[in-house]
Amino acid sequence: MLSLEQLSQMVKVHLGLYSDADGVQHFSKWIIGESSLGGRGLFATQDISSGEVLFVDHPIIRGPRSGTTVSRGCTVCCSIESDTFFKCSKCSLLLCSEECQETTTHDEDCTTICRWQNKIPIDEIDDAILSRALAPIRALRLSEDQKILMAALQVHSLPRHGAEVRELKECFDIPEDDEDLMTLACCALDTNAFQIATPYGKKEMSLRGLYPVSGLMNHNCVPNTRHSYNKDSQMAVKAVKPIRAGCEIFTSYTGTLWGTPARRTHLYKTKHFFCECDRCADPTERGTLLAALKCFSAECPGSLLPINPLNASSPWRCIECDLRVPIKNICTIQSALGSLMGSLDFENVDQSSVSSDLGAWGSRRASLAW
Ligand SMILES: [Zn+2]
Ligand SMILES: [Zn+2]
Ligand SMILES: [Zn+2]
Ligand SMILES: [Zn+2]
Repeated sequence: MLSLEQLSQMVKVHLGLYSDADGVQHFSKWIIGESSLGGRGLFATQDISSGEVLFVDHPIIRGPRSGTTVSRGCTVCCSIESDTFFKCSKCSLLLCSEECQETTTHDEDCTTICRWQNKIPIDEIDDAILSRALAPIRALRLSEDQKILMAALQVHSLPRHGAEVRELKECFDIPEDDEDLMTLACCALDTNAFQIATPYGKKEMSLRGLYPVSGLMNHNCVPNTRHSYNKDSQMAVKAVKPIRAGCEIFTSYTGTLWGTPARRTHLYKTKHFFCECDRCADPTERGTLLAALKCFSAECPGSLLPINPLNASSPWRCIECDLRVPIKNICTIQSALGSLMGSLDFENVDQSSVSSDLGAWGSRRASLAW
């Protein structure tokens, strides 16, 4: 395990924070420290104002997301709209053009995959299996320093992580060292990777990136930073509120517009922890009533909220008439609402119906001011 000092030094090198030849110092306003949440985190060393860029991180691994529902496209340019898709005859990766095939990116991917003996004829290998595993395959090209940075991130090594490598092993004979490193990369990616936003309106395969500095930020449901990407997948992390010296710097790993039960379930499923931040502990979520349900009593205008939001089996109570509702009745309503939301087609929304049907959502969102 790296000491804080060693990790800080590697992070500075990774971000390019140094004093250059002219003696100009490029230092940050934060340090890596031990968090009260357990593990490490980032802390402000001086007062930071809202809007300040804290750092610009770049991914040590970048590749297609592993989900089975992700639309697969060119493994170089990520286009999912092409009439000319073909599989490379040497490695079976999906490509859209000869130009994409001739890039260094493909050359490196191709060389890595061609080192392995295929168990089935190469043209019969499903390109989706390769696409799902491409991010961990690219981890095989990390430098020694980058491997150490990856290993310094918090990693969940549950058996269900690494499915994409197990799938790949059906197609290729993979040496144990390669398999171990790819499996570690899967765990690090599942725990820490950020989904890279695609440029608005562009139809592209969805990517994930392992950002070693952003990955050190802990989660809070009221984050004090926000991040955005440029076209080279660099991530700029900005303060969204003033952060006082000594305070921890947080990101959010979940939807900040979701109510507490949805956020906590999502965090548990994806990041394996139950959040206990101030917002999660407050039944009203700072007065927004984001997850509230209308009271079951027809005459009562009140809202139902969990009595103890940190306990997923806590009964709910009306804030007006004090009616108590067991958790199982609440869950029935929530799952019905969930499937209703899931069935909405956001791609073909008729503006007039949005304003009337989702009016309540609109006003709730507008009243959020974290
Ligand atoms: Zn392409
Ligand atoms: Zn190839
Ligand atoms: Zn929380
Ligand atoms: Zn009531």
